[in-house]
Amino acid sequence: MKGYGGRILFVDLTRGTSRIDSLAEDTARALLGGNGLAVRLLFDHVPALVDAYDSANAVVFAVGPITDTTVPGNSRACVASKSPLTGLFFDSTFGGRWPATMKRTGFDAIVITGQAPAPVYLKVGEAGVEVKPADSLWGHTTRDTVHAIQAVEGGEVDVMAIGPAGERLVRFACLATYWKNREGVAGRGGIGAVLGAKRVKAVVVTGGRKTELADSALLKALLEEKREPLKTGTKALSVYGTSFLVKPINTLGALGSYNLRQETFADAQAISGEEMHAHYHDKDTTCLKCPVACGKQYEIRDGELLGLKAKMPEYETIFAFGSMLGNAHAGSLARANDLCDLLGMDTISMGVTLSFVAEALERGWLDPREIGVPFGWGDWRGMLRLVEMTATREGFGDRLAEGAWRLAESVHPEATRTVYAVKRLELPAHSARALKGMSIGYATATRGGSHHDTRPTPQYAQGYDRRGTDGKPEFAVRSQHFTAVDDSLVLCRFTSERGFGLFVEEPYARMVRAVTGWDMSVEELELVGERVINLERLFNVREGVRRRDDVLPWRVMHEPIPDGPSAGMHCPPDELAGMLDRYYDLRGWDTDGVPTAERLQSLGLR
Ligand code: SF4
Repeated sequence: MKGYGGRILFVDLTRGTSRIDSLAEDTARALLGGNGLAVRLLFDHVPALVDAYDSANAVVFAVGPITDTTVPGNSRACVASKSPLTGLFFDSTFGGRWPATMKRTGFDAIVITGQAPAPVYLKVGEAGVEVKPADSLWGHTTRDTVHAIQAVEGGEVDVMAIGPAGERLVRFACLATYWKNREGVAGRGGIGAVLGAKRVKAVVVTGGRKTELADSALLKALLEEKREPLKTGTKALSVYGTSFLVKPINTLGALGSYNLRQETFADAQAISGEEMHAHYHDKDTTCLKCPVACGKQYEIRDGELLGLKAKMPEYETIFAFGSMLGNAHAGSLARANDLCDLLGMDTISMGVTLSFVAEALERGWLDPREIGVPFGWGDWRGMLRLVEMTATREGFGDRLAEGAWRLAESVHPEATRTVYAVKRLELPAHSARALKGMSIGYATATRGGSHHDTRPTPQYAQGYDRRGTDGKPEFAVRSQHFTAVDDSLVLCRFTSERGFGLFVEEPYARMVRAVTGWDMSVEELELVGERVINLERLFNVREGVRRRDDVLPWRVMHEPIPDGPSAGMHCPPDELAGMLDRYYDLRGWDTDGVPTAERLQSLGLR
C-alpha cells in the first residue's frame, strides 16, 4: 500500500506483551489514518462505559498517508483516547518532528492498553516495542524528560512525554515533544492523564522507513500550484503566529473576557500579537520541513519576568490567561504558557477554569481562604501560583485539577451556569455567541468545546453572515467532515486551510490520489469525513450521549453579549433546537441524535 506502513502495533502493559497486525487496505481507504483509524481502534478495543483511567482504556497514536511526505505541514500525528474530562471519544493532533519519525517506524498506529506495574517509557522502532523503566524520570517536566531520554537513546529519537500533571491525573493533562525549540503539544482532553494512569511517562519513536508515493509527479504539480496561495494565506502566521488574531477578533466584539461576561477586552492591544512581537520576539520556530514557521520564541525583556525565554502563547492561550482573566500582563501569558507546557497541562482548560474561580470568588461562592493564595481578576502572580498548584494537586490545586465543570458542581448549585464549557470541555477563543456557525458547531462537536470540530476560520471572512442561523447546520456538517478528513490525512490545519481549502475539495482528493494511487473522488473523500464523524458519534452514543447533551453553556443561551459590535448576540434554547433538528436531519440521525441504521449502512458501518 503506497502512503502507509501497513502495520498496527498493539502494546498491552498489564501482560507485558505486544503484537503487530496488518492494516487492511479497505480500512485505510475508508478511514485514511490518524483520527479515522484511531476512532475505529478505540471503538473496537475499548469496552463501553469503562472509566478513562481503567486499564482497559486505550491510547492510540496514529499517523496518516500524508505524514512524512513533501506536503507542507505533514509532520502531524493524532493521539486519541477516552477522555477523563469529557468521558467521551477525544483526539488531539500535534506537530514537531515526532510524527514524521513515527511514520518511519512503519507503524500507522500504536495502540496502548493495560497498566504498567511501575513507571515506564515505550521505545517504538521498526521491529516493535521495548518497554523501559522510567522511575528516575517520574516527576520531571516534559522538556527534561525529552532531553533525558534523548541523552540515553540518541538525538535522532523523538520523545512525546507527560509532565507531573499527567502523573497526578489532572483531568486536562497534555503531552509534549520538543525539537529544535519547536514544541508539539497534544493539548486538549486530558490524554496525558490517561497515559499517567497507565504509568507511561513517554512514547519514544525511531525509524528509517520511507513513505512511498504512488505518483510523486502529481503531488509535485499540486504543491507547485499551491505554493503562492499558501505563502500569501499564511503571511500573518509566519510573522506573528496565531496571536495576530487578538485584535481583529476583539474588534468584532467576539473576544471572551472576564469569564465571558464581556466579549471585548479594553486592554487587547497590550496582549496582541503585534505588541508582543515588537517587545519580545526572539526567533521563529517550525515543525519539520514546514515553510510557515508559525512558532515564535519570546524573550521577556522587562519587569519581574525579565530574562524568561519561552514559546509565544497562542491566541487561545492569550484568551484563556489574558482576556478571560482580565489580565493584560503580556509576560505572564508567556510564563503561564511555559508552565503549562513543562508541567503538562492544557492552557485553555487551565485558564478558563481559573476565570470561573475569579467569578466564583466575586459572587461569594468561594472563600479566598479556600484558594490559599491571593487571586482575582488581573492577578497574574496568583494565576501563576495556581497553575503550579494544579499540576501537583497542592491545596486548592487539587480541585482545579478536576476542570471547571466538576469544580463548579462542588461550589454552588447554580455555579455550572457560569462555566464556559460544552460536554465538560472548556471552550476556546472563538465565540459561541458571536459566530452562529460555532453555536451549532460546539453543540454538536464530538469533543464538546473544541474549535477543531467545526472551524471558525471561514466565519471570520468578509461577507460571511455570522449573525443568522440560515445555512449554519449545513456549514457545521461540511466543516466537521473537513476537520475529520484533515486530521485523518494527517495535515496541519494552518497549511491545509490556508493552502488547500476550507472544506473537502479537489486539492485534497488529488493529494490522496497522488500519495495512495486510489482513484479517490471528492465525493468519496467527503464520505470518509462523514464516516469518521458517525463512528465518533457511535462511540459517544454508547457512552450515553443524546440530544440533551448537545447543548451550549447556559450563559451562551441566556445572556446576550452586553456591549460592543456583537451586542445582543446569543443562542437561545429555541434557536439551538431549530438548528439541531436540521443538523440531525442532514446527518440522518434520529431526533434524539442517534445515527439511524440506514445511514450507518450507507457508510459501511453496519
Ligand atoms: S504551520 Fe505552524 S503548526 Fe503547522 S506545520 Fe507549520 S510550523 Fe507547524
